[in-house]
Amino acid sequence: MAFLLERAREPTHRVAAFRTAAAVVDTLGPEELDRRIRTRTLTDLRGIGPKTGAAIVQAHAGEVPEYLARLEESHGELVPLADDVAEFRALLRGDLHVHSDWSDGGSPIREMAEAAIGLGHEYVALTDHSPRLTVANGLSAERLERQLDVVAALNEELAPFRILTGIECDINVDGSLDQTDELLGRLDVVVASVHSDLRADSTAMTERMLTAVADPHTDVLGHCTGRLLVPREQREGRRQRPRPESTFDAEAVFSACVEHGTAVEINSRPERLDPPLRLLNLAVDLGCEFAVDTDAHAPGQLDWQGNGCERAVECGVPPERVVNTRTAEDLLAWTAG
Ligand SMILES: [Zn+2]
Ligand SMILES: [Zn+2]
Repeated sequence: MAFLLERAREPTHRVAAFRTAAAVVDTLGPEELDRRIRTRTLTDLRGIGPKTGAAIVQAHAGEVPEYLARLEESHGELVPLADDVAEFRALLRGDLHVHSDWSDGGSPIREMAEAAIGLGHEYVALTDHSPRLTVANGLSAERLERQLDVVAALNEELAPFRILTGIECDINVDGSLDQTDELLGRLDVVVASVHSDLRADSTAMTERMLTAVADPHTDVLGHCTGRLLVPREQREGRRQRPRPESTFDAEAVFSACVEHGTAVEINSRPERLDPPLRLLNLAVDLGCEFAVDTDAHAPGQLDWQGNGCERAVECGVPPERVVNTRTAEDLLAWTAG
């Protein structure tokens, strides 16, 4: 039940029914919770209805709570953003972390771009996965080369909108990046993320992240803790269980981000919401720059930036320190620098 509670405690979580249900579950001991699930008497408790009750049962069985997932997918449209969050979001000109069906996204590049245009974006960075992430159909150097040609052709058609070329590049265990130097140098935006050995000890993880952040190709440090708040379905029926944050010396890593001009991503995916607020506050205090990204794998997910903006506002992120408030021209000058 931990993730239900964690979600409900997230200040961004706007679904009051879940907050109430989670609070009720919180008062039950594990045995009482088991008994109530077994005897189907959860809904006898005040504050737990049929839908929240079903979600609790599913979560208890380690299943994806469908109702919660649906709420997460739709609540951005259902619940208007607070005025200050809406203002912050209106400052964003694009999104620097977007996947297509070339890796593990569900839609062609063109559909992602058209959805971004529909949201009023001026640009998106197409950041499909790197070769090592085979479970996500990561792009070999050859496939990435081909993608660059496809993007160039689409850009002719979609101008003035711009698809920035990019990659979500795995950070190898030794901190190096999982693509050739030559190709990384040709891309507009490089998001570097840890996707493996997430449970490494803090010293090893810190070293690994420091090396990646200092790499001259790295522009954005993706979802820095790797946490997953809810289980999720992946390609080919794979399921990922919730997982805690990786442990690393956040002060050292964020300081290195400041030193090397690497932006810290504020990942807006509902199951990530990474970094956690305490680390986001730390990054603000240390003077980091940020990218508020969706990590969208489908067109509708491009609308998730409100999640990240809400957290940015909550932690007092100055908009001028958010690199995707900049024009494409200014952004490219920054990534090239
Ligand atoms: Zn990732
Ligand atoms: Zn991603």
